[in-house]
Amino acid sequence: MLDVEALAKTYDGQGRRVEALADITLRVGAGEFVCVVGPSGCGKTTLLRCLGGLLRPTSGAVRVGGTEVTGPPDGLAIVFQEYGRSLMPWLRVAENVELPLRAKRRPRPERRRLVASALAAVGLADAGRAYPWQLSGGMQQRVAIARAIAFEPRVLLMDEPFAAVDAQTRADLEDLVRSVWQATGVTLLFVTHDIDEAVYLGQRVVILSKSPTRVLEDLPVDLPPVRDQLLTRADPAFVRLRTHVYAQIKSVAQREEDRAQEML
Ligand code: ADP
Ligand code: MG
Repeated sequence: MLDVEALAKTYDGQGRRVEALADITLRVGAGEFVCVVGPSGCGKTTLLRCLGGLLRPTSGAVRVGGTEVTGPPDGLAIVFQEYGRSLMPWLRVAENVELPLRAKRRPRPERRRLVASALAAVGLADAGRAYPWQLSGGMQQRVAIARAIAFEPRVLLMDEPFAAVDAQTRADLEDLVRSVWQATGVTLLFVTHDIDEAVYLGQRVVILSKSPTRVLEDLPVDLPPVRDQLLTRADPAFVRLRTHVYAQIKSVAQREEDRAQEML
């Protein structure tokens, strides 16, 4: 469903060149849940923007459902990190969720039904008439997730969606995302800098290096499909995986440091 082949992206502007992505190859099958983990600034958002057709690659190819991406692909939804900015403050919660369905020209009764069931799925059945700014950060991010679900995407991209919420809310939202994935069978690519979150959520973890960014490893997560915030995180298999991912990221940082030392 997602096919990224030798993707490179260099930002060029005002005499400043940033090689954000050096060489990324990655595939996600239909219905898979894959997490991408890497340090801040390594190009995770850049990768999602290329997949979402918001940014042109410098070289390489990006395909969604077998079609080369040249603009926002059909049936693809993105949940951004800055939920505060992604909701329209002058629209009520239900109207925010309905917005993409209007753009898709879905008939009114169907819009009503999709909005109601999406809000119920994220535990906000009663909040439809509120304005986003009347809700907590965690609830606003639920609205953003409801808007993505109501759209019934075949591909959902999530860019560090829980980076700005408190720990308890974050745990609840992680479990919400897993249950949405299990209920809908959507293809999910979830980007985070949090190693534990990546291992907890995904069926695979794609580990990125620091920039210029490459794929260090594509690691299968062999944990049982039913995840539990306390039991899974205490499972020796979970601890082994998170330690492995941490060591991978760390060993690259160390090698780079050693090389810098040698050059001095
Ligand atoms: P991440 O999401 O992993 O934190 P980003 O994709 O946001 O990383 O950024 C990767 C690198 O590209 C960073 O060094 C960042 O400063 C740079 N960058 C991101 N967007 C732009 C832009 N529009 N112009 C120039 N540089 C950018
Ligand atoms: Mg980012």
